[in-house]
Amino acid sequence: MSLSGADTILIHGLPFRPFLSEAAIRQRVTELGREVAARYPQGNVTFVVMLKGAYVFAADLVRASGLAGEVSFVRTSSYSGTESAGQVQLLLAPEPELIRDRDVVLIEDIVDSGLTMQAFLPVLREMGARSILLVTLLHKPEAQRVDVPVDLIGFSIPTKFVVGYGLDYDGFGRQLPAIYQLDERY
Ligand code: 5GP
Ligand code: MG
Ligand code: MG
Repeated sequence: MSLSGADTILIHGLPFRPFLSEAAIRQRVTELGREVAARYPQGNVTFVVMLKGAYVFAADLVRASGLAGEVSFVRTSSYSGTESAGQVQLLLAPEPELIRDRDVVLIEDIVDSGLTMQAFLPVLREMGARSILLVTLLHKPEAQRVDVPVDLIGFSIPTKFVVGYGLDYDGFGRQLPAIYQLDERY
Protein backbone atom coordinates (compact mmCIF):
# COMPACT_ATOMS: atom_id res chain seq x y z
CA MET A 1 0.00 0.00 0.00
CA SER A 2 1.42 3.37 -0.95
CA LEU A 3 -0.12 6.58 0.25
CA SER A 4 0.70 9.05 -2.48
CA GLY A 5 -2.34 11.30 -2.07
CA ALA A 6 -0.74 14.41 -0.58
CA ASP A 7 -3.66 15.15 1.72
CA THR A 8 -4.37 11.60 2.78
CA ILE A 9 -3.95 11.01 6.51
CA LEU A 10 -3.82 7.81 8.50
CA ILE A 11 -6.19 7.50 11.42
CA HIS A 12 -5.72 4.40 13.54
CA GLY A 13 -4.21 2.69 10.51
CA LEU A 14 -6.84 3.60 7.90
CA PRO A 15 -6.42 6.19 5.11
CA PHE A 16 -8.80 9.15 5.08
CA ARG A 17 -8.96 12.15 2.76
CA PRO A 18 -10.22 15.68 3.39
CA PHE A 19 -13.95 15.95 2.81
CA LEU A 20 -15.45 18.98 4.60
CA SER A 21 -13.08 21.80 5.50
CA GLU A 22 -13.03 23.65 8.77
CA ALA A 23 -14.24 26.80 6.96
CA ALA A 24 -17.11 24.99 5.23
CA ILE A 25 -18.24 23.49 8.53
CA ARG A 26 -18.01 26.84 10.32
CA GLN A 27 -20.10 28.57 7.66
CA ARG A 28 -22.79 25.89 7.68
CA VAL A 29 -22.96 25.70 11.48
CA THR A 30 -23.38 29.48 11.62
CA GLU A 31 -26.33 29.18 9.21
CA LEU A 32 -27.85 26.33 11.21
CA GLY A 33 -27.48 28.38 14.40
CA ARG A 34 -29.49 31.21 12.83
CA GLU A 35 -32.15 28.78 11.62
CA VAL A 36 -32.49 27.24 15.07
CA ALA A 37 -32.64 30.65 16.77
CA ALA A 38 -35.35 31.88 14.37
CA ARG A 39 -37.66 29.11 15.56
CA TYR A 40 -37.53 30.08 19.24
CA PRO A 41 -37.98 33.85 19.57
CA GLN A 42 -38.32 33.46 23.37
CA GLY A 43 -35.26 31.25 23.73
CA ASN A 44 -35.48 28.92 26.69
CA VAL A 45 -34.98 25.60 24.95
CA THR A 46 -33.28 22.43 26.13
CA PHE A 47 -30.39 21.31 23.97
CA VAL A 48 -30.08 17.52 24.05
CA VAL A 49 -26.66 16.40 22.84
CA MET A 50 -26.10 12.86 21.59
CA LEU A 51 -22.74 11.71 22.98
CA LYS A 52 -20.13 11.18 22.07
CA GLY A 53 -20.00 12.18 18.41
CA ALA A 54 -22.11 15.36 18.59
CA TYR A 55 -20.19 17.12 21.36
CA VAL A 56 -18.05 19.31 19.08
CA PHE A 57 -20.95 20.21 16.76
CA ALA A 58 -23.17 20.95 19.75
CA ALA A 59 -20.63 23.30 21.32
CA ASP A 60 -20.48 25.32 18.11
CA LEU A 61 -24.21 25.14 17.29
CA VAL A 62 -25.35 26.24 20.75
CA ARG A 63 -23.08 29.29 20.56
CA ALA A 64 -24.05 30.04 16.95
CA SER A 65 -27.72 30.02 17.94
CA GLY A 66 -27.14 32.42 20.83
CA LEU A 67 -30.17 30.83 22.51
CA ALA A 68 -30.46 30.66 26.27
CA GLY A 69 -31.24 27.21 27.50
CA GLU A 70 -30.23 24.19 29.48
CA VAL A 71 -28.02 21.47 28.02
CA SER A 72 -28.54 17.77 28.60
CA PHE A 73 -26.43 14.85 27.46
CA VAL A 74 -27.54 11.47 26.17
CA ARG A 75 -25.55 8.39 25.34
CA THR A 76 -26.83 5.44 23.38
CA SER A 77 -25.13 2.35 22.14
CA SER A 78 -26.22 0.12 19.36
CA TYR A 79 -24.90 -3.38 19.35
CA SER A 80 -24.70 -5.19 16.09
CA GLY A 81 -24.26 -8.75 17.29
CA THR A 82 -26.45 -11.16 15.38
CA GLU A 83 -28.84 -11.59 18.30
CA SER A 84 -29.59 -7.94 18.93
CA ALA A 85 -28.83 -6.21 15.66
CA GLY A 86 -30.46 -2.82 15.53
CA GLN A 87 -31.14 -2.72 19.26
CA VAL A 88 -30.42 0.69 20.76
CA GLN A 89 -29.57 0.92 24.45
CA LEU A 90 -29.93 4.10 26.50
CA LEU A 91 -26.71 4.37 28.53
CA LEU A 92 -27.23 7.94 29.78
CA ALA A 93 -30.71 9.45 29.88
CA PRO A 94 -31.60 13.16 29.96
CA GLU A 95 -32.84 14.71 33.20
CA PRO A 96 -36.67 14.39 33.29
CA GLU A 97 -37.16 18.00 34.45
CA LEU A 98 -35.19 19.29 31.45
CA ILE A 99 -37.48 17.48 29.01
CA ARG A 100 -40.99 17.71 30.46
CA ASP A 101 -42.92 20.59 28.82
CA ARG A 102 -39.73 21.87 27.17
CA ASP A 103 -38.92 22.70 23.57
CA VAL A 104 -36.08 20.30 22.81
CA VAL A 105 -33.37 20.92 20.24
CA LEU A 106 -31.93 17.46 19.65
CA ILE A 107 -28.37 17.60 18.35
CA GLU A 108 -26.94 14.60 16.48
CA ASP A 109 -23.66 14.16 14.62
CA ILE A 110 -24.95 11.94 11.85
CA VAL A 111 -28.12 10.14 10.85
CA ASP A 112 -27.08 6.97 9.06
CA SER A 113 -29.55 4.06 9.18
CA GLY A 114 -31.87 6.21 11.32
CA LEU A 115 -32.23 3.43 13.92
CA THR A 116 -30.78 5.49 16.78
CA MET A 117 -33.23 8.35 16.24
CA GLN A 118 -36.11 5.95 15.60
CA ALA A 119 -35.44 4.48 19.05
CA PHE A 120 -34.68 7.72 20.90
CA LEU A 121 -37.36 10.14 19.62
CA PRO A 122 -40.17 8.16 21.34
CA VAL A 123 -38.20 8.36 24.60
CA LEU A 124 -38.28 12.17 24.44
CA ARG A 125 -41.99 12.14 23.59
CA GLU A 126 -42.76 9.77 26.47
CA MET A 127 -40.81 12.06 28.81
CA GLY A 128 -43.22 14.85 27.84
CA ALA A 129 -41.21 17.08 25.52
CA ARG A 130 -43.44 19.90 24.23
CA SER A 131 -41.69 19.94 20.87
CA ILE A 132 -38.62 18.36 19.30
CA LEU A 133 -36.38 19.83 16.61
CA LEU A 134 -33.90 17.27 15.29
CA VAL A 135 -30.73 18.89 13.97
CA THR A 136 -28.03 16.70 12.47
CA LEU A 137 -24.71 17.88 11.09
CA LEU A 138 -24.53 15.01 8.61
CA HIS A 139 -27.08 12.80 6.90
CA LYS A 140 -26.52 9.75 4.70
CA PRO A 141 -29.81 9.62 2.78
CA GLU A 142 -28.90 6.46 0.87
CA ALA A 143 -28.12 4.58 4.07
CA GLN A 144 -31.34 5.45 5.86
CA ARG A 145 -33.34 2.31 6.62
CA VAL A 146 -36.19 3.80 8.65
CA ASP A 147 -38.17 7.00 8.35
CA VAL A 148 -36.95 9.69 10.74
CA PRO A 149 -38.20 13.29 10.87
CA VAL A 150 -34.91 15.17 10.46
CA ASP A 151 -35.70 18.90 10.69
CA LEU A 152 -32.35 20.50 9.88
CA ILE A 153 -29.39 18.94 8.06
CA GLY A 154 -25.91 20.43 7.79
CA PHE A 155 -24.67 18.30 4.90
CA SER A 156 -26.14 15.35 3.01
CA ILE A 157 -23.27 13.02 2.23
CA PRO A 158 -22.60 9.72 0.43
CA THR A 159 -22.67 6.42 2.29
CA LYS A 160 -19.00 6.44 3.20
CA PHE A 161 -17.41 6.42 6.65
CA VAL A 162 -16.32 9.83 7.96
CA VAL A 163 -14.31 11.05 10.97
CA GLY A 164 -13.32 14.34 12.57
CA TYR A 165 -15.08 17.28 14.23
CA GLY A 166 -16.20 14.99 17.05
CA LEU A 167 -16.76 11.84 15.00
CA ASP A 168 -14.42 8.95 15.65
CA TYR A 169 -13.00 5.86 14.11
CA ASP A 170 -12.62 3.40 16.97
CA GLY A 171 -11.99 6.26 19.40
CA PHE A 172 -9.59 8.17 17.17
CA GLY A 173 -9.96 11.35 15.11
CA ARG A 174 -12.47 13.31 17.20
CA GLN A 175 -9.99 16.19 17.68
CA LEU A 176 -9.66 16.93 13.96
CA PRO A 177 -11.11 20.35 13.06
CA ALA A 178 -12.24 19.15 9.61
CA ILE A 179 -14.14 16.07 8.44
CA TYR A 180 -12.36 13.29 6.56
CA GLN A 181 -13.79 10.49 4.44
CA LEU A 182 -12.49 6.94 4.29
CA ASP A 183 -10.34 6.63 1.19
CA GLU A 184 -11.41 3.38 -0.41
CA ARG A 185 -8.81 3.57 -3.16
CA TYR A 186 -6.30 1.93 -0.84
P1 5GP B 1 -27.73 5.33 12.87
O1 5GP B 1 -27.33 4.23 11.93
O2 5GP B 1 -28.44 4.77 14.06
O3 5GP B 1 -28.54 6.39 12.17
O4 5GP B 1 -26.40 6.03 13.36
C1 5GP B 1 -25.87 5.70 14.61
C2 5GP B 1 -24.58 6.39 14.90
O5 5GP B 1 -23.56 5.72 14.20
C3 5GP B 1 -24.40 7.84 14.53
O6 5GP B 1 -25.00 8.74 15.41
C4 5GP B 1 -22.89 7.93 14.60
O7 5GP B 1 -22.49 8.10 15.94
C5 5GP B 1 -22.48 6.58 14.06
N1 5GP B 1 -22.12 6.72 12.63
C6 5GP B 1 -22.87 6.49 11.53
N2 5GP B 1 -22.18 6.76 10.40
C7 5GP B 1 -20.95 7.16 10.81
C8 5GP B 1 -19.76 7.60 10.12
O8 5GP B 1 -19.66 7.68 8.89
N3 5GP B 1 -18.70 7.95 10.91
C9 5GP B 1 -18.72 7.89 12.27
N4 5GP B 1 -17.63 8.25 12.92
N5 5GP B 1 -19.82 7.49 12.95
C10 5GP B 1 -20.92 7.14 12.23
MG1 MG C 1 -24.25 9.80 17.03
MG1 MG D 1 -18.41 6.26 16.95
